[in-house]
Amino acid sequence: MPNIVEVKSVNKRFGRGPVVLNDINLAIEEGEMVALIGASGSGKSTLIRTICGLETADTGVGRISLFGQVTQSGGKRLPAQRQLRSQVGVIFQQFNLVTRLSLLTNVLVGRLGRIPKWRGLLGLFPRSDRITALKALERVGMADKARQRASTLSGGQQQRGAIARALTQEARLILADEPIASLDPASAERVMETLGTINKEDGVTVIVSLHQIDHAFKHCDRIIALKDGAVAYDGTTEGISPENIANLYGVEGLDLV
Ligand code: ADP
Ligand code: MG
Repeated sequence: MPNIVEVKSVNKRFGRGPVVLNDINLAIEEGEMVALIGASGSGKSTLIRTICGLETADTGVGRISLFGQVTQSGGKRLPAQRQLRSQVGVIFQQFNLVTRLSLLTNVLVGRLGRIPKWRGLLGLFPRSDRITALKALERVGMADKARQRASTLSGGQQQRGAIARALTQEARLILADEPIASLDPASAERVMETLGTINKEDGVTVIVSLHQIDHAFKHCDRIIALKDGAVAYDGTTEGISPENIANLYGVEGLDLV
């Protein structure tokens, strides 16, 4: 089984700015639940955006593979990038759902891979797609909200909707960039539990960036710690303590902001 994600010798700068990603090497296997932690500005978002192809790594020897196929090499996106796009679900801190559309329509968008420009399109989807979408909403505990406009949902509910959309898309990999950063503690916990469920029960590989260490320890099997754009720790959750992580960043508590 090839690695789901492989990042080899990846460097990234924006223009003539400072180095944002400094020789990143990672291999992530199918089924892992990985926390990508780091203080603000350490490069978490840039790494996630580079893995999913929203950014390209710098020219040179850097290479990224998804599901065993090279998607970027020498600073260029390869055709595999487009082909594999539907297998990668991306979840951001905010703006995950189209607020004017119903939750169900948002989740069905996972089937299309793009946001539709017209309304009232629910009936255009085959019944089988609607059943798939409703099942995904059940998986995240949101089936009763299917007909509600996304704008009426709380932040945590929207994030769970985004997870349902990734499931409907049949994503094998979810990249979640600080999905709980703007949520209250109870909603944050629920979103992390939902990611855990789809990882353990649906076999979706999850990479989730966080700046709160406690969530990483509670929900993830592996921790990758970024510091100043470089990997400062990459290993099992058992292999390091919260205190050691805090020391690594020179902070007192469990929040790396
Ligand atoms: P994190 O997600 O860990 O907070 P980021 O990846 O967002 O870190 O940012 C890492 C560094 O890269 C920061 O110094 C940030 O200012 C810089 N950066 C990120 N995106 C851009 C961009 N599009 N243009 C210029 N600099 C950027
Ligand atoms: Mg970020």
